[in-house]
Amino acid sequence: MKFSITSKGDSKSEQIKERLIQYLKDFDLEYNKDEPDLAISVGGDGTFLQAFHTYSHRLEHTAFIGIHTGHLGFYADWVPEEVEKLIIEIAKNPFQVVEYPLLEVKIHPQNGGKEDRYLALNECSVKTAEGSVVLDVNIKGEHFERFRGDGLCISTPSGSTAYNKALGGGIIHPALESIQVTEMASINNRVFRTIGSPLILPKHHVCELMPIHDNRSFLITIDHLTKTYTNVKSIECRVADEKIRFARFRSFPFWKRVHDSFISGER
Ligand code: NAP
Repeated sequence: MKFSITSKGDSKSEQIKERLIQYLKDFDLEYNKDEPDLAISVGGDGTFLQAFHTYSHRLEHTAFIGIHTGHLGFYADWVPEEVEKLIIEIAKNPFQVVEYPLLEVKIHPQNGGKEDRYLALNECSVKTAEGSVVLDVNIKGEHFERFRGDGLCISTPSGSTAYNKALGGGIIHPALESIQVTEMASINNRVFRTIGSPLILPKHHVCELMPIHDNRSFLITIDHLTKTYTNVKSIECRVADEKIRFARFRSFPFWKRVHDSFISGER
């Protein structure tokens, strides 16, 4: 089996990375940064997002696992003290796999050119540096509302505990193949009106964002990556056909992770 390691780069994460490489090679596993069967991240959820985007072009072939060197993460949920145990589990191979849904984002340009396509593990957010974001929101091909405000966030179930949660969105179990649309400070008065509540869309219900003004520039984030776009015709968001595959060596239920991260580390 081939493995890769993405480290946060701090001394603790680097030490664990070196130890993992040495021990896994001792078990005859191959260190291969280009085509890993297992991508291990060492750091936090931010490091896990980096690992995901490094291998998002080969999700059918690469499974992921995260070790955290700071606080408990949603993706990075193994602690450094468990590294030896984890190495033995990995060496035993094959491992079980758990799949989580992803978000597909297509950004269509006004000139009719080819769209840019991205996969997000947490979310896509749409903001602007020029006044308010003004766009029409279409759901499943029907006009739903005209949004005016700071921006919108479209998240995956596993991303629902990240930016989405800070915006007042609900926490969605990753077994539900869905996306969630949350507002950032919408303007609501007698002239402008939006739904105000987070919307949860099932698979195949496409959410389309159609900017009203030509030539406005948008700051579009895909997880930790920010891109600037002008002349956007539409931004299409839906549950992706692809899924992320986690290598599972022990049970750590989603709701326990939510509890341990946000309520208390002890029971
Ligand atoms: P960052 O601003 O350095 O860190 C964002 C924080 O979100 C970190 O503490 C990170 O955990 C945590 N996080 C990431 N994914 C999570 C998840 N699925 N559930 C719960 N917490 C999660 O940015 P970054 O490290 O590059 O990560 C990018 C992410 O930041 C974005 O995808 C977005 O979700 C999040 N974000 C959150 C807010 C907010 O809450 N107001 C605003 C902007 C962006 P670690 O410390 O373990 O890395």
